[in-house]
Amino acid sequence: MHNVVILGSGCAGNTAAIYTARAGLKPLVLMGREPGGQLSITSEVENFPGFPEGIMGPQLVENMKLQAERFGAEFRHGTVIESDLSKRPFRLNVDGEWIETATLIVATGASARWLGIPGEQHLIGKGVSSCATCDGFFYRNLKIMVVGGGDSALEEANFLTRFSNVMLVHRREQFRGSKIMIERVAANPKVQMVMNTVVDEVVANATGVVGAAKLRNLVTGEVTHQEVDGFFVAIGHIPNTKPFIGQLDLDEEGYILSHGGARTNIPGVFHAGDVQDRQYRQAITASGAGCMAAIEAERFLEAEGH
Ligand code: NAP
Repeated sequence: MHNVVILGSGCAGNTAAIYTARAGLKPLVLMGREPGGQLSITSEVENFPGFPEGIMGPQLVENMKLQAERFGAEFRHGTVIESDLSKRPFRLNVDGEWIETATLIVATGASARWLGIPGEQHLIGKGVSSCATCDGFFYRNLKIMVVGGGDSALEEANFLTRFSNVMLVHRREQFRGSKIMIERVAANPKVQMVMNTVVDEVVANATGVVGAAKLRNLVTGEVTHQEVDGFFVAIGHIPNTKPFIGQLDLDEEGYILSHGGARTNIPGVFHAGDVQDRQYRQAITASGAGCMAAIEAERFLEAEGH
């Protein structure tokens, strides 16, 4: 049986791993479906303290993993598909194999949200993407569209101008993203902003890959077909809490409800990072939350005489 199992290997999970490993708890980190979390698909991170020149997201998260491993954390590929938190030890079904743990830190993060429009799902990997840094390269000198109005969409639009001109489509008149990102995009002549507009459909061309997007202006009602090769969706995320439905207290969108600090409704189960945080969602806040969860797990075990 494990002392601590940490689910997720983004900033939250990796920081929890550093702290619990240094506390001598030999944590097991299950890396999940998206190892490294959202940072692993980001380009440069400019706002994580300690890196005055910035650092590449994948490098930052890999550094955290190495730091945890140095103190004895074990990282394993695997995803929890089912859990039994009704009694202790807690039981987790990891891709078909059940494991047991005295405490659990849920740092499973959040995954890309999709628009849910015709053509979208079926064209993922054929022009539809949720990761500019992963797929932008394929659309050099081709037609790129980004959908969304938050920092992710603004950042992706800017990044993608390395490859081609970008049309940024947002459903409102104002962007949700931060001032600095909005200014950067506004100053980038390769980004064309299309406001008050939604995409109703992604349309395949004769070869079965993305060829066009059907846009609808919400003010005028005008519908247009825009030729597109790379269609990037950047409209936020959905928390990864499926294996805990009915056990952990979740809000209406599936985020874990905090019971103070890093505590969930179940003693011995702690939360860290974007799986609980719908407000800040930064690398540094996720790391801070991972630290909190680790300290709480350590104290919980200590109180039980571990
Ligand atoms: P977000 O801030 O929640 O923004 C989501 C955007 O998508 C909003 O503009 C929203 O429109 C739009 N949207 C949502 N559902 C839609 C739909 N069905 N159809 C069309 N548009 C839809 O998400 P995010 O941009 O991923 O950012 C998440 C967090 O990470 C934020 O706290 C952000 O600051 C942070 N972040 C920071 C950086 C950075 O600092 N460099 C980079 C990336 C992300 P409305 O505005 O109309 O709601």
